[in-house]
Amino acid sequence: MNVFAPNKWKEKITDPHWYFEVPALMKAMKELHDKDRAAYELEKERIYDFFEAELGKETIALGTTGKDFDAERKPIDTIVVHHTSLQPGLTKERLSAIDLVRLYAVEFAAPKYREDAAIKNRPIWSNHLRDGRQVFWPYHWIVRVDGNAERLLEDYEIGWQAGNWDVNCRSVAIVFDDEFEDKDPADIQLEGAAKIIREHYPLIKKENIIGHCEVRGHTDCPSPNFLSKNGKIGWKSKLLTLV
Ligand SMILES: [Zn+2]
Repeated sequence: MNVFAPNKWKEKITDPHWYFEVPALMKAMKELHDKDRAAYELEKERIYDFFEAELGKETIALGTTGKDFDAERKPIDTIVVHHTSLQPGLTKERLSAIDLVRLYAVEFAAPKYREDAAIKNRPIWSNHLRDGRQVFWPYHWIVRVDGNAERLLEDYEIGWQAGNWDVNCRSVAIVFDDEFEDKDPADIQLEGAAKIIREHYPLIKKENIIGHCEVRGHTDCPSPNFLSKNGKIGWKSKLLTLV
């Protein structure tokens, strides 16, 4: 079953209010998820393929200016750890497309944060530009499976990542380019993340190095095995030792 019709969306995205239709699409996707998991996964890829391609072609109506979200940046005192929960090899372009749809479109359509009420009806604007084009990354660093890290957002930019605006304003987000639902990160991946923290954020207190799940209770991110529980030591403690 297809819930996403690219031909219709090709037309929609030329209207700056295209994102008003995203919550309905998400709702249809949730229903598909509960009904037919395999079909949902395929449909999800079709949606992200579409938005990645159209972002690349600059055919999506977006803002050319807008709220300076980064004016609310506070001194960084927290690191939030995530996993992409996807197969490794996520490109920066794909990540931008995913979070344009999943984060920015949804927030602009129905602002969750009171301070965002003014953005409703406005064309989508992330305030984050690379070579004159908007990016929609939620994270500051991505750690690849070989332990190498790549910079995404700069530290003065706020990432929409923790599900809590105050934490977003104070934190830097590190994401593992992998999924840790069923496995733990390899040592080389943990060392990659630890190295970023040692080199760039040496003053951050260890108790302020936390997982996404510690900010927002109803997510497993970065892994159901991140925190120690039921006598089993979580991989958070290994990460902290390496830092
Ligand atoms: Zn997360």
